[in-house]
This record gives sequence, C-alpha cells and structure tokens, in this order.
Amino acid sequence: MNLLSDRINRLSYSQTFVMSNKARELKAQGVNVISLTLGEPDFEIPEFVRESAIKSIKDGVKSYTPVPGYLELRKAIANKFKRDNNLDYKPEQIIVSNGGKQSIINVLLSVVNDGDEVIVPSPYWVSYYEMVKLAGGENIVVETTIDTDFKITPQQLEKAISPKTKAFLFSSPCNPSGTVYTKEELHALAKVLAKHPNIIIISDEIYEYINYEGKHESIAQFPEVFEQTATINGVSKSYSLTGWRIGYMGAPKWLTDACDKIQGQMTSGANCIAQMASITAIEADPSVIDYMIEGFKNRRDLVFKLLQEIPGFKVNKPAGAFYFFPDISAYFGKTIHGHKINNSDDFALMLLEEAHVATVGGVSFGNADCIRLSYAASEEELTEALKRIKETLS
Ligand code: GLU
Repeated sequence: MNLLSDRINRLSYSQTFVMSNKARELKAQGVNVISLTLGEPDFEIPEFVRESAIKSIKDGVKSYTPVPGYLELRKAIANKFKRDNNLDYKPEQIIVSNGGKQSIINVLLSVVNDGDEVIVPSPYWVSYYEMVKLAGGENIVVETTIDTDFKITPQQLEKAISPKTKAFLFSSPCNPSGTVYTKEELHALAKVLAKHPNIIIISDEIYEYINYEGKHESIAQFPEVFEQTATINGVSKSYSLTGWRIGYMGAPKWLTDACDKIQGQMTSGANCIAQMASITAIEADPSVIDYMIEGFKNRRDLVFKLLQEIPGFKVNKPAGAFYFFPDISAYFGKTIHGHKINNSDDFALMLLEEAHVATVGGVSFGNADCIRLSYAASEEELTEALKRIKETLS
C-alpha cells in the first residue's frame, strides 16, 4: 500500500545528506571514514556571535518572532545589502527564513504554477531540482562542463527561455562547482533576462564571502533586473552557523509578502535566539571572518595540487565556495576493486567502500561525470583523504 502523495513520490532524498549519513553510519561501526560530503564550515562559531546568543538566552528571549523576522535584523540585513552589494532593499523587502533553503522554496512556491518552467544551469545544487518539482514546476536544465569552468553563456540562457519560463535559479559562488561569475558575465545574463520581465531571477549568494579571486557581484545590482530578482543569502556558511538555520532574502515587496504568507502558515518566524545572534554577526565588519576565508583558500590550493596528481581526474581551480567538482569520467566502463563504474555515483560509492572517503556523486547535481568534494575539513584530513583516493585508484 502506498498512501503517499504523487508529490512526495516524485521527490528524491537530498543526496548530500544521504552520503553524509552513510559516512556517519560507517563511522559509528568503527570504520575510519573521512567525510568530504556536507558543505559545512568546520571553524568554531566566532566568539562574539556565540556571546550574543548566550546573552539573549540569559535575557529570556523566547517568544514567537515576527513571521518575516525581527525588524532589527531586517534593518541590519538591509544595511548589509547596501554595504556589501550596493543593493537598496527596504526592511519590508526582506524576509528571514529557516535557512537559505526555505527562502528558495518560498519563492518557488510563490511564483511557480503547475507546468511552469524553471531554468537551472547544471551542475546545480541538489535541492534546486527537487524544490522545483515540489513546486509543480518543470526543470529546464542548461548543461555546462568543466572545460568552460561550468559557466553558462547568454546564448545558452536565451535558447532555454520559452513562454512558460517562470524563473531562473542559480548560485554564484556555485555549489557544487565553486564557479564565480564575473560582473561582466552576470551583466550579460542580466541583459537577456531583462528582456523577459516575467522571469524571476533567484540568485543564491550564500557563499558570497567565500570568494578567493575578486569581489562578490550580485546580479540584482543591474537596474534592468532589480525588480525581477530575489537575492538569497544567510549566515550559515559565512559565520559557521549551519545548524542555527538563518537564511534571508531581499526581493520586490510583492514577493516578500507572498513568502511571508507561506511562512506564516508553515513555520512561523525563524528561531529567536539565532536571529538575535545574526544581528550581531551581520552588523560586524565582514573582515572578522577573514581568517576563515584564508583557511579555506589554503585548503583549496592544497586540494587543487593533490587532485592534479590523481590520474584520470580533470580538475579546475574553483574561485569560490569550498567544493571541488572534478570530472572523473575517464573511469567509466572500468571495474575498480570489483566495482563497475558507469557514472559518478558508482564512483563515489566505490570511494566510500574502498578508500573510506565519502564524497557526493554528481548525478543529483545534474552532472554524471563529476563528483563533489567539500574541503571544509582540516588539512590533515584532506591530505589523508586524497592520499587514500590516489592509492585506491593506482
Ligand atoms: N548546502 C550544503 C551542501 O550542499 C549543506 C547540505 C544541504 O543542505 O544540502 O552540502
């Protein structure tokens, strides 16, 4: 008997969590697994943010929060958007959610009707694809490869647009590829989208600060698309607060109002203590987390060097986020330690079982040629993981 709705039957489990859970289970059985699955900073919470949360608890902060978030937090976010991104959002154009994830599904549920199309460049973050399905939409995947640094061109975007297109959903810095679009590249995409004001641009900028090459650029900065853009961000990746679940969005008021309506029925406002601490984090000068970015950059350089030494791995140098997405298709059709490799998910499972290194196969990111490695781990763990992978393949 299957009592489940078609909606849930169509949905897949989040592969990032599937693989991290597998790693956790093996660890619990005593296997020495190195997990490079979840994109989760391993730095401690900055002391001043921690203190702020403790103070709120001591002050007895406990009640339901306003559905779109505390006004003080939304003011802090509006100032941050101005300070860092030169974007003019008023507090009423901001909504705080239970993680950036909720901000994204809020927007999709607000704008997508059954059968509407959402353009998603691949590789995409696993949850985009499933969220579009959940909202009743049709994913229109625009493929890219490592040879073009996983960037889509304005021509590809133009070609993917149809009368049914409702949204364009992407991240820069990108999860899973680490790709960062330059200002010029974003402007070229914005010009295409500006010709279609009925398309909502959902710009996921959660990795904003984890950018090693240049300044972060928001697509909403181009006036021709400002009114059709939802800018998503949050404190999870920047302040090592993944479990505190504070994401937010700046968008036209009609859209934040719609998200407020959904959130008010589904979850209410986000956690009060985490919101108070987020005010402290967001108001601080972003340079307070420079040491984390420096740490990630050193790890990126280390992993880049080590990955290049592994035969059959095609690697690019990501400019941001904390992932590598190497192309391992050279192994397709081969049998490694008894594992037949037909796609990158097979490869990731083989690595888990033989090298005891957990990664995430690329299939659920919309690219069956690549695997994702998160380098939000210590240099010792990374060195050991890459050594094991190399040995397993030799
Ligand atoms: N965004 C992170 C990742 O891609 C966290 C896990 C998730 O929400 O999928 O690993």
